[in-house]
Amino acid sequence: MIAFENVTKKYDNNQIAVNAINFEIQKGEFFVIIGPSGCGKTTLLKMINRLIQLTEGTIRINGKRINGKRISDYNIHELRWNIGYVLQQIALFPHMTIAENIAIVPEMKKWETTKIQQRVHELLEMVGLEPAQYSDRKPNELSGGEQQRVGVVRALAADPEIILMDEPFSALDPISRTKLQNDLLELQRAINKTIVFVSHDMQEALKLGDRICVMKDGEIVQIGTPKEIIQNP
Ligand code: ADP
Ligand code: ADP
Repeated sequence: MIAFENVTKKYDNNQIAVNAINFEIQKGEFFVIIGPSGCGKTTLLKMINRLIQLTEGTIRINGKRINGKRISDYNIHELRWNIGYVLQQIALFPHMTIAENIAIVPEMKKWETTKIQQRVHELLEMVGLEPAQYSDRKPNELSGGEQQRVGVVRALAADPEIILMDEPFSALDPISRTKLQNDLLELQRAINKTIVFVSHDMQEALKLGDRICVMKDGEIVQIGTPKEIIQNP
C-alpha cells in the first residue's frame, strides 16, 4: 500500500539521512520503524506525508506517486487529509476544547455538525475518556496520558487510511505508556488501519509491530515479524 522505491533523502548540508531504501507496507499493517537516534526514522516517516520532500526515488501510496512537485498524482491536501499524524510532543491547541481539537480535520472537510459531534463522542469513548466529562475541557485540564489519547484519536477523526506516529508515547511515564500501547493495539484491531510507528525502544516495537524495520545510518538492516527479528538479532 505504501511503497518506497530506491528512496534517498539528502539534506541541504549534504547529510544523507535515508539511503536508497526499498520496502513496502501492506494495507492494515502495524509497521514499526526502529533504530538509534539519527538513523533516519523521522525522515522516512515525514516523507510519507511530504512534510519532507525526498531527493531521489519514488514513494507510492495505493500505486500513485506522491513525490515531486510536478509529477505527483496527489495534491497535497488530498494526501494529508488521508494521513493522520501523531507527534511525540503533545500538540493540542491550548485555547480550544478537547472536542474542538478532535473536530479540526472533520471541520476542514466540512462534515455536518451532528456527524462531527457523533464522531467526537465515539472517539472519546474509544479511548476511555467519558465524553460528557472531557469534551468541553481545555488540554491543560488533562493529564499527559489523557492528552496523548486525544492526540491519537484526533489523528483518526476523519477516518484516514494511514496513521503516522513518531514516538507518540515516549514522553509519558511507564504506566501511562503501557496503558496507551495496549489501547492502541486494541484500537488497531478494531479499526484495521495502516499504522507506521517510529520508536527507539525494541520492547515497544516487538509488542506493537506486525512487522519491524530496523534502521542504521539511513539504511534498513533488517525487516521482519517480531518472531523473525528475535530469531536473527
Ligand atoms: P531519527 O529520527 O532516526 O533520529 P532523523 O531522520 O531525524 O533521525 O535524522 C537523520 C539524520 O539526518 C541525522 O543525522 C540528522 O542530524 C539529519 N537531519 C535531520 N533533519 C535534518 C535537517 N533538517 N537538516 C539537516 N540534517 C538533518
Ligand atoms: P526526533 O526526536 O523525532 O528524531 P529530532 O530531534 O532529530 O527529531 O529533530 C527535530 C527537528 O529538527 C526535525 O524536524 C529535524 O528536521 C530537525 N533536525 C534534526 N537534525 C537536524 C540537523 N542536523 N540540522 C538541521 N535540522 C535538524
